[in-house]
Amino acid sequence: MTLQDRIRKIAPYVPGEQPQDRDIIKLNTNECPYPPSPRFAEAYSSLSPADFRRYPDTEAHELVQAISDIYGIPVEQIFVGVGSDEVLAFAFQAFFTGGGRLLFPDITYSFYPVWAELYHIPFTAVPTDQDFRIRAEDYLGVDDACGVIFPNPNAPTGIAEPRSFVERILAGNPDKVVIVDEAYVDFGGETALPLLEKYENLMVIRTCSKSRAMAGLRIGYAFGSRQLIDAVKAIKFSFNSYTLNHASIIPGAAAIRDTVYFDEICSRIIKTRERMAQGLKKLGFVFPPSSANFIFAKHERIPGREIQEKLREKKIYVRRWDAPRISDYMRITVGTDEETDRLLEELGRITAC
Ligand code: PMP
Repeated sequence: MTLQDRIRKIAPYVPGEQPQDRDIIKLNTNECPYPPSPRFAEAYSSLSPADFRRYPDTEAHELVQAISDIYGIPVEQIFVGVGSDEVLAFAFQAFFTGGGRLLFPDITYSFYPVWAELYHIPFTAVPTDQDFRIRAEDYLGVDDACGVIFPNPNAPTGIAEPRSFVERILAGNPDKVVIVDEAYVDFGGETALPLLEKYENLMVIRTCSKSRAMAGLRIGYAFGSRQLIDAVKAIKFSFNSYTLNHASIIPGAAAIRDTVYFDEICSRIIKTRERMAQGLKKLGFVFPPSSANFIFAKHERIPGREIQEKLREKKIYVRRWDAPRISDYMRITVGTDEETDRLLEELGRITAC
């Protein structure tokens, strides 16, 4: 074997661009256009340099307690990690590496197949229907499946399914873990959290990166039965005891407790999304109904690549994938009202040609 042969080759996940130019209207990574709660800054400035001499709290008690208090779910049923990406990666290792195929939709978060490859988990990308909807029946009675994962609302489509849909999949897979990735649920989805009482095989994963406006802080969390949470913790403590750092735990916990501010920015984003949807429709875009902080749209006439490039020339960034079925679609994050006006104005010019 050569040195080359010994080096692992893997196609990594490609995150959306993070340009440093502040003039750019950045609608490509579903960040929140508003700052985090004012409680964040208060807690951040209260941090003492001396606190950083020590390792952070391995269990992030302050953060877990804040999450427990606002959701009314016991601390034993909560896990926190460095963004939901880390929580998801641990969950893949904890639940899906024992043999069998992992099932997820063909149009979904493009990190799922990357983790599956990384951990040598066989998987099937199950085709969504012609409207990009997930069909619950495709996830029932699959004998060699090892588990199921899907976002709800789905990404990048923005389509939300009701709780009854999630329950059908849970009830049909009592011997497998079903992960519902609720990264975007706060923008209009129906959460699966009430099902935790009834289903031991449910894990719900959330993030502070979207509706809580703290993508830069890197906090994700999971809810599940004690058995599932303990399994994910065992993976974490086999990897790195100190994942979240002190500077994330303290301000993150303070910001999470500010539910008034949270409600306010979520409703503002939903309102802007509805205005953006009307504007896009008038310009000849088609898109599935969005319950997220983005709209997945294609133009009836102009290729997606062309529109994306023209927007980019005007310093407006949106996300697009050169993948089967969706290459003409752009995933456009809901920005501020001003950013949305600029977007619609430029799209008006582009589509008038
Ligand atoms: N799940 C979905 C569906 C997402 O779109 C994202 C954002 N890329 C994540 C999880 C990860 O978010 P984070 O790691 O910032 O919590």
